[in-house]
Amino acid sequence: MNICKKCNTEFNGNFCPSCGFPIKLKTIDGEYIFDEFKSVFNLEKGIFFTVKNLFLKPGPTVREFMNEDRTKLVKPILFLIICSLLFTLAQQFLNFQSYFMDFQEESIFQKLFEWLSKNYGYSNILMAIPIALWTKIFFRKQNYNYYQIFTILSYFIGISVLIQTIFGIINGTTNLKVVQIGFIIGSIYVAWAIGQFFERPKRWSYFKGFLSYILGAITFLILVVSIGYVTLKIL
Ligand SMILES: [Zn+2]
Repeated sequence: MNICKKCNTEFNGNFCPSCGFPIKLKTIDGEYIFDEFKSVFNLEKGIFFTVKNLFLKPGPTVREFMNEDRTKLVKPILFLIICSLLFTLAQQFLNFQSYFMDFQEESIFQKLFEWLSKNYGYSNILMAIPIALWTKIFFRKQNYNYYQIFTILSYFIGISVLIQTIFGIINGTTNLKVVQIGFIIGSIYVAWAIGQFFERPKRWSYFKGFLSYILGAITFLILVVSIGYVTLKIL
């Protein structure tokens, strides 16, 4: 009898029947390295596939992920983090101003917004929280729980961040001031994608998608400013 190192089940054979953990670790050899290389390549392929499909038909793409097949797309939060990482890299190389950086005077608010723009990945995850809440409220008749909606938004906000990255790169290389345009187009994309995901009733769902995004973003900003205000009072 073997005992699984992961879940302590007793079993005969090479793999644990309840969790699939192997009795012996594979030796690191050529095959192992090749497998790892393949998985990196697959992730890359998966990213391109995910981006392409989310751009062209966000609603059906994420619906398929939810209801039929979870293997085709890159996992949602990982996707959002990868997109934010690309944004941060582009921003550091080209030094364009991100949306959050518009504060002039030295204050706690400026520090907060500076943190948010420097940690754009986390900012986007944080901003998805209130947007998901408003989306849940506006589409409460459809049977999706909060976490499912958060998942949907991770994909859509990821693409919005990519759009902003593209405009940021244009801004950084040509000096055309287009970062704000990128932000607006990214926001329109998210509203459109939410509407397309929920579909029914057609026109209303786009409008409600738009409201969810705007109210979510406003809620986020109010929370940030409140945190700044409370911190000021305490200090
Ligand atoms: Zn096990």
